[in-house]
Amino acid sequence: MERIDNKKIKVKYEKLSDRSEKDKPWDIHRHDCDLVADIYKQSFEFERYFERMNECSGHLQYSEMLNRETGEIGIKLKSARFCRVRHCPVCQWRKSLMWKARFYKALPDIEKQFKSARWMFLTLTVENCDVSEVREKIQWMNKSFIKMIQRKHFKNYNLGFVKTTEITRSKDGKAHPHFHILLLMKPSYFKYGYLKTTDWAELWRDCLGVSYTPITDIRMVKAKLNGEANKSAIAEAAAETLKYAVKPSDMVKDPEWFHELTRQVHKLRFVSTGGVLKDLFKEDTSEKDLLLLSEEEDTDKELRILNYNWFKKDKNYKRKLED
Ligand SMILES: [Zn+2]
Repeated sequence: MERIDNKKIKVKYEKLSDRSEKDKPWDIHRHDCDLVADIYKQSFEFERYFERMNECSGHLQYSEMLNRETGEIGIKLKSARFCRVRHCPVCQWRKSLMWKARFYKALPDIEKQFKSARWMFLTLTVENCDVSEVREKIQWMNKSFIKMIQRKHFKNYNLGFVKTTEITRSKDGKAHPHFHILLLMKPSYFKYGYLKTTDWAELWRDCLGVSYTPITDIRMVKAKLNGEANKSAIAEAAAETLKYAVKPSDMVKDPEWFHELTRQVHKLRFVSTGGVLKDLFKEDTSEKDLLLLSEEEDTDKELRILNYNWFKKDKNYKRKLED
């Protein structure tokens, strides 16, 4: 007689992070997504967000690809569903990757067209405010920024800009809305129009119409190094500009704060562009955009499809191994 083995067959898994170095960040962002979704779950008002985020990128479908030239086998994301909730950590991350990819793609042409132009990185802030005032403050900052770009310094010396909004939470629970701006400046700015940090602060103060000096930071992006474009400096400035609007660790500190912030920024635009950089980024993205599929023709051979699933308790993506 055959013995029935009651012991459970041990299922073997392959972790996504073990399989692909570049896909390691998935676990971190998807775990953040669970943490933030749980904050939304606490309020009936945001239940829909919780539901959508809970479903976000639960399954990642990859193609296992053979590089015909090198013989290497790698994996490449083929499909996934994204929730596109504004503060979803996964969707924010994918959006940021997409923006950076677009920026890098446009960069060679911009640099060719405006050979001696220089990149600068500007940070504009206002005094911290109560989270219930965030909407009003950001709208006022936007109006003030429009005043700023109409001033002679922008008109004469700026070729284009990319501006994003970030809101951080200070220790005392106040909100700190600020702008990160990448500026493309004409070379004549350094000859005739150069402003010190304190002058930029004064210009921003005047546009805001306040009596205090707002914290303002301006720095050169050292784009040229021995005549070569210094990619890492530009990458750093681009990464600082084209990132999340609220960092996940600030979202989960105080549910009430984050709920109010969500109400405050509803439908507010967080990205704006101007001059020769206009239309480089759209704020709205499709699910397909977030997959970051490459536009180049694929010469690799697809060997098979691999499906990785999110395991909430284990905080990782993995796939069941056959046999
Ligand atoms: Zn999402």
